[in-house]
Amino acid sequence: MKLIRLLLLISIFTQPLRSFCWGGEGHKLIGNVAYHYLNPGVKDSLKFYLGSVSLADAGLWMDEMRKNHEYDYMKPWHYINIRQGESYKPDTGQNVINEINKRIDHLKHRNLCSKEQVAVDIKILVHLCEDLHMPLHAGYASDTGGNAIHITFMGKPTTLHWAWDNDIMLQQHITVDSCLALLAMFSEQRIKEERRADIVGWMNESRSLLPNVYDYKGDSIDVAYADKNAPIIKLRLALAGLRLSELLNELFRAKTN
Ligand SMILES: [Zn+2]
Repeated sequence: MKLIRLLLLISIFTQPLRSFCWGGEGHKLIGNVAYHYLNPGVKDSLKFYLGSVSLADAGLWMDEMRKNHEYDYMKPWHYINIRQGESYKPDTGQNVINEINKRIDHLKHRNLCSKEQVAVDIKILVHLCEDLHMPLHAGYASDTGGNAIHITFMGKPTTLHWAWDNDIMLQQHITVDSCLALLAMFSEQRIKEERRADIVGWMNESRSLLPNVYDYKGDSIDVAYADKNAPIIKLRLALAGLRLSELLNELFRAKTN
């Protein structure tokens, strides 16, 4: 019995750290979609700064740093909370929009920064652009963006946030290829429009999806809910990749390093 208890304890403490963002798979998927649309010179620039870290893995850095309390100050950077019925009002507080804009500004002036600092700014920008496309990163403080909502999905305990981060994406087999196939169906005009770096617009889109997120009864979501919301999740992952690539193409087009 002692051995079983010990194994149980080990399994609990070695579980992946429950993320408050797209799960690692979601971040990697978006990074791979973005890489597909990067200009060749920009790929070289990113390689110069990131070294052996791929764009897909660059998006994981902020979550890896969650384990290190020295980086606790970054925790409010992953999201923005706005009360239900209210709309976004710009302020100077710490939130995902302000932090994305700061990284864009830093990267525009990267000739003033060390190579290491530029690498960190790229990693933060990648992660936060990815996060902002997840509807619950523009949710409500009252339930900490769905993290405080404990539900079951297909009988397994989870949270509403994690279901949207990870569970539905995996259950519905949403992949890099399926996201690229979706984008390939867009007209040239739509691709051009979707690529715009409208950070507040991305946030408003995420917010407009919250009624879908909260459209379930009781304390469980089922396959019908996942089937209904999978196209939304796939579109958000695909758009995050497309937009991230455009942002990086713009920022690194002028090769200052
Ligand atoms: Zn995050």
